[in-house]
Amino acid sequence: MKAILVQPPFAQLNAPYPAVHYLESFLRGRGIEARSFDHSIELYRRVFSRSGLERAFADAKSALADGRLDETARTQVERYLSYEPLYLEWIDGLVDFLAGGDPGMAHRLASAAELPRGERAEAFLAEREGRIRCEEASALATRILEDLGDFVAFALDPDFGTVRYAERIASSRASFAEIREALGSSYIMRAFYRPYLERFWRERAEELGAEAGGASRPRLPPLLVLLTLPFPGCLLGGLACAEAAKEALGDRALVVAGGGYVSTELRGLEDGGVFDYFDVLSFDAGYGSLASIIDALPGLGGGRAPRDGALYRSMYRGADGRVVAAGFDAAAGAAATDLDASGGRRVEPAGAGSERFAAAERAALETIFPDYRSADFGRYLRIVDSVNPMHRLWSDAPWLKYALARGCYWHRCSFCDTRLEYVAGYVPARVEALAAAAGEAAARTGLRGIHFVDEAMPMASLLGFAALNRARAAAGEPPFHFWGNVRYDASWTADRCEYLAASGLVAVSGGIEIASGNWILIRFSLVGLTTIRSATLSIYGRSYSTGSSGSFDAWSPLYGSIKSPTNSLSNAWPYSWSSVDYTSNVRIGDAPGLTGIRLYAGPSSNDLVINTVELCLDAS
Ligand code: SF4
Repeated sequence: MKAILVQPPFAQLNAPYPAVHYLESFLRGRGIEARSFDHSIELYRRVFSRSGLERAFADAKSALADGRLDETARTQVERYLSYEPLYLEWIDGLVDFLAGGDPGMAHRLASAAELPRGERAEAFLAEREGRIRCEEASALATRILEDLGDFVAFALDPDFGTVRYAERIASSRASFAEIREALGSSYIMRAFYRPYLERFWRERAEELGAEAGGASRPRLPPLLVLLTLPFPGCLLGGLACAEAAKEALGDRALVVAGGGYVSTELRGLEDGGVFDYFDVLSFDAGYGSLASIIDALPGLGGGRAPRDGALYRSMYRGADGRVVAAGFDAAAGAAATDLDASGGRRVEPAGAGSERFAAAERAALETIFPDYRSADFGRYLRIVDSVNPMHRLWSDAPWLKYALARGCYWHRCSFCDTRLEYVAGYVPARVEALAAAAGEAAARTGLRGIHFVDEAMPMASLLGFAALNRARAAAGEPPFHFWGNVRYDASWTADRCEYLAASGLVAVSGGIEIASGNWILIRFSLVGLTTIRSATLSIYGRSYSTGSSGSFDAWSPLYGSIKSPTNSLSNAWPYSWSSVDYTSNVRIGDAPGLTGIRLYAGPSSNDLVINTVELCLDAS
């Protein structure tokens, strides 16, 4: 049996999204020949190429000539069209440069007499009086690509965003008819993704040869097509991909979709329209569900429904057209209750194999890690969309991504639905197995940087990994460097911070939650400084509002007084930065050499979540 795993567009640009690679390792362990493909980065590179832009500019001119654009869009599009020759001249070099090729391009960007100037590039250059330093070349190249993204959105496809697509449609709980309509009218799908998919699936069909089709050929086991939809913005791409797979492979393709979007947003699904595209929806980590699907093959696909009790934590469309939610046992927590409460679908109790599948899921969570053998890290882009060092850590390097645990040990953020399976079901991974898998991936890719993607890295696992990393270094192997997200609990002692920093931990980002009516104090040590010329305070976070327009009074200093910045954090998604000149509020010399700020939640909001607080000093 074979499996093709696809990450549909659009997910992250800097590194492979790890989900398909986890599942690929799982399937290989079960003797299935599995291979992953990242259509997200491939589609991005298809649009942002000379030939892609030639198509987009030609279509934009048609839209302009046909009077399809409003006044704002028309003005914007005319500006971009005036730079068309320059965009076409630069685009392939810029993308190659951001992918790590041709470092000399930095000098060309720094000395270029003429550059295409959309709003973002124009602003970036204006802040630097028209001339950048070589080390700012990646940031400028990123702005130029972002400008082109704006151009596509203005002229051709308002749902286009660089790392997300049509999220509004997928997450607005639109009826499936609306989603189908959006899929049919999408410019990006029609002009770029569908032609790509046609070729992609034709190639896969040719590889499969006799297995792929032909009524006279012997019936062979279906090809598993697994699509992961981590975000709402992947839904339209996933639907288009499923449709194309079925067109090319017919009944031989059993299309299964899973991932974070499926496990949360589609948990209460009653509209069966999605099963015109996907045969089965797979929930939660996917291992138990996939194990049950593999056991049920080859009786699945081609309109055949599984026998009752066969599937685990999965949904499909039953013979009566109703959605069937199968195999959600008590361990699925609130999900089981939600499912039972629904009258619009049939809830099929967990079958005899459910304990076996639950055990398979748990064992996989402890021991399965991606080896990234299907990934080409040279395709990914080192995007520099912010000078902020924490932002840069996220996006300007191609990290190997692993999780130290499934679920969240912290479990205490008041705004979080901690009943969700992927939060409530805490299963730590075995760090020895993780380190071994990362060692293989490092040898294969040459990368030793790890981004732990946990919501909150558990201290015990982190210490265990750090010890293994020290042993690796002591044995003469180049050690890993790693970072991730934390919650600042009592386990973060000074000794442990020092030990972890000496063992390869390069940074942590962490959320701090403030409930309404309270404030928290953040202190900065300024010991050893004698002069402060300037200080900037920046806060990265968001609010969770009880009302539709909640916002926060962001901060006040320990000394003196300062007005809250006018751009204080709001309940807008995503997280946002606020910055303020803090120079007059920073003091040195006070025992014990500390300065600080108080952060307050504002009146109409519940919680303020601060992810990063930075005090940037020009000091000596
Ligand atoms: S750290 Fe994340 S997953 Fe854990 S409780 Fe808080 S918001 Fe939820």
